[in-house]
Amino acid sequence: MQVVAHVYRIEWQARGMPHAHCLFILRNKLMSPRHIDQVVWAEIPCPRKYPVLHAIVCKRMIHDPCDNNADALCLQKNGKGTCYRHFPKRLNNETAIIGACSHDVVHVFVISSLLNSGDGYPEYRRRGRTSSVRNGTVIDDRWVVPYNPFLLETFDAHINVEVAAHKRCFKYVYAYTAALSSSVISCAFRPTLNFLQVQTLLQSA
Ligand SMILES: [Zn+2]
Repeated sequence: MQVVAHVYRIEWQARGMPHAHCLFILRNKLMSPRHIDQVVWAEIPCPRKYPVLHAIVCKRMIHDPCDNNADALCLQKNGKGTCYRHFPKRLNNETAIIGACSHDVVHVFVISSLLNSGDGYPEYRRRGRTSSVRNGTVIDDRWVVPYNPFLLETFDAHINVEVAAHKRCFKYVYAYTAALSSSVISCAFRPTLNFLQVQTLLQSA
């Protein structure tokens, strides 16, 4: 998986923790659900086969169930009484890309708090084979934030990884990454992707 360009933005969260948004542009598309499944997982891994990863996912990559919690911030954020991050997700036996994939390059982006809004993002495989208990509530794959198993085991931190399969997704990430903010501490474009190319992408989306 060769990365030809990347964009990142680092900012401070409310409690002072640094928080990175990164977009990696791949030379070769992730063309099929099988390829996507090699990069992004959205399931609670088997505790016997992946004991370390299982513990990290349960600790760091679960969206706290909000369907029976009227005070949940994610419900209040969009003002519609539904989760603005679209949890709980549907259980799926196979990964599927929803909507047209209309760009020459499929991007992978690593973020920690962007929402997955449906069109242009895959619906990841969530087979519901393993569950866990969190704060007395049974959790299944519907509440798992998508992740890359290698990154998660390496850094033991909340790292949301998504495959962006539509230019609308790229536009969002480019615009977000380029937006000026007093909380941003670092922002960079790798030279292979210059501002002219970004502008072109933004205008074509
Ligand atoms: Zn929620």
